[in-house]
Amino acid sequence: MCQEVGHAIQLALSRRGLLKAGAGVSLAALTLMLGGVPVVAAAAATGADSAAPDFDTRLILLGTAGGPAWFPGSSRHGIASALQVGDLTYMVDCGDGAARQLAHALMRSNPKAHPFQLLEPLRALFFTHLHSDHVVDYNNLLLQGWTAGVGRRQPLEVFGPGPRGELAPVFQVPGLPRAEPAVAFPEAPTPGTMQMTDSIFRAFATDINDRIRDYLWPDIRGLVQVKEIPLPNMAGFVSPNQTPAPAMEPFPVWSDAHVRVTATLVEHAPVFPSFAFRFDSEQGSVVFSGDTGPCQNLVRLARNADVLVHEVIDAAWVDALFPPPLDEATQALKHHLLSAHTSIEDAGRIAEQAGAKTLVLSHVIPHNVGDDRLRVASRYYSGRLVPGQDMATVGIGRPRAA
Ligand SMILES: [Zn+2]
Ligand SMILES: [Zn+2]
Repeated sequence: MCQEVGHAIQLALSRRGLLKAGAGVSLAALTLMLGGVPVVAAAAATGADSAAPDFDTRLILLGTAGGPAWFPGSSRHGIASALQVGDLTYMVDCGDGAARQLAHALMRSNPKAHPFQLLEPLRALFFTHLHSDHVVDYNNLLLQGWTAGVGRRQPLEVFGPGPRGELAPVFQVPGLPRAEPAVAFPEAPTPGTMQMTDSIFRAFATDINDRIRDYLWPDIRGLVQVKEIPLPNMAGFVSPNQTPAPAMEPFPVWSDAHVRVTATLVEHAPVFPSFAFRFDSEQGSVVFSGDTGPCQNLVRLARNADVLVHEVIDAAWVDALFPPPLDEATQALKHHLLSAHTSIEDAGRIAEQAGAKTLVLSHVIPHNVGDDRLRVASRYYSGRLVPGQDMATVGIGRPRAA
């Protein structure tokens, strides 16, 4: 099991001073120097661009909202990120609005792209886990993407969790034993990525057959290759409910000529499996935490990474939102929010432990939390902190020669 992160971390006042100096330029490119290597974060909510396209490897935050993406005072899209390496794009998660955000990002990269070919650069999609806020736009990416070139250059490869295999335990309040609720779809109550994809295609069979016959399009099912990520042998693993994230070393998932992808299990119980991913390219490394509480597996995965994209929740907001006494359902929700996610402060501690050079906060809860509140993480972290905003772009490595 993952353990809490220690608190003995030095403050880096000079770094915080630098961040304060940049706090007033939220709509402009924010160019900072990291060990002589420029890293560019563009707050592009208004379409503002930056020098990041000059980098061969770029991280784009497509959506930065954690949980359901409709929240007063926020226009953040659901959680999704893109990593562009050369002219290929790799996507992590596919939350609410992610397909449209990806299309906008690719239009920005290539304004002259034909609309039927716009999504051809999308090489692979990785699901950290199957909570709906991470997958709800998958059907949109597949079906609308079919009209925009998904899988036409080469099949889109999709990687995600296999079936959970056993039902999650029923939340129990001490002293108030609760009976088992009726199981939804008892014939297959915990499907994995392959069955989820097949179910989407079956739901849209009318549309798929129409376009195959009327437009003579290739069957969308042949343009997508889904692979469920096999778990390695894990010492100490007992079951999804007892040991959802046993201590382990990162394991390889996939590679092509441009990126090498490794993964680890993270602490997002009762979800199982719940992955974090690391992408290594010639230009550097980017780690995506997925959803997790503070987790030493993630620290190992993110060791010395150039960029760590970490989920975050404002724990003080949760406490203020749910003061006791609470009914059982509210207790269950509060327990999940605080145990399966990482506070702003702990996100800083995790990044410090890992030695990540840049920490990007995403999967933000609540969605309307201010950047100043997110910057509290820098009290515990001496690297560069980027409070995530939709469409913000971070260049990795060195810019292309002029
Ligand atoms: Zn989530
Ligand atoms: Zn989740």
